[in-house]
Amino acid sequence: MTRRYLVAGNWKMHKGVADTAAFLEELLAAKRPRNVDVVVCPPYISLPAAAMLLTRSGIGLGAQNVHWESSGAFTGEISAPMLADLDVGWVIVGHSERRTMFGETDETAARRARRAQEEGLTVIFCLGETLKQREAGETIDVLRQQASVLTDLDPAKLVVAYEPIWAIGTGRTASPEQAQEAHAFLRSELRGHFGDEAANKVRILYGGSVKPANAADLFRQPDVDGGLIGGASLDVPSFSAIIRAAAHLAAGASS
Ligand code: PEP
Repeated sequence: MTRRYLVAGNWKMHKGVADTAAFLEELLAAKRPRNVDVVVCPPYISLPAAAMLLTRSGIGLGAQNVHWESSGAFTGEISAPMLADLDVGWVIVGHSERRTMFGETDETAARRARRAQEEGLTVIFCLGETLKQREAGETIDVLRQQASVLTDLDPAKLVVAYEPIWAIGTGRTASPEQAQEAHAFLRSELRGHFGDEAANKVRILYGGSVKPANAADLFRQPDVDGGLIGGASLDVPSFSAIIRAAAHLAAGASS
């Protein structure tokens, strides 16, 4: 089973319109491998400018969150139809920063994901354990619980991002073996939810301090299908180097 690598940049609360345009112009000017899927997820405010620049570029555009209702009295929220109107094809849901700082739960994340998929968006659904949970030997139980809400999603429009919270923005990365162990477990859960064929097609990204220096070792693992990249997605040389790492592995696998 060959899944295409996906490298997605989560810019978080970085890059307004001018910085987004500068980044994308530089990225588009550089030579890009065609055997890797690439997505950037700027802040909401920068999505219209990014959508214009990325038209017919082959680079996907994602948002960092979405509400579960289509419209209504939800001050500060953005809906899936609004994103679809802008040609936003992807959305990150359930990021640990939303879970720990903004009250996101497995259930609210699942509602957002469902509504986004109904609108045709592909969901990058984030999950992962805290350091305390890992040290207490609870990682598998936590992942099982977090993944349990994926059952009524459409696997064809689903990407799972395993992001151990202790590795996000900390410079600490899961070892390739730790990542593979978690990803293999998540894939087995997906098989239970969706059956073998559909589950084998779902991409499972690793996120947590992926850098050009460690990307290849992580991406080489059989169930690691690319990365959700935070800090290293904010400048073109490091984001491009991570994309190239995936491209080299993909080229090796197909030769
Ligand atoms: C993230 O926030 O999704 C992330 C993986 O961040 P970083 O790469 O900076 O650890």
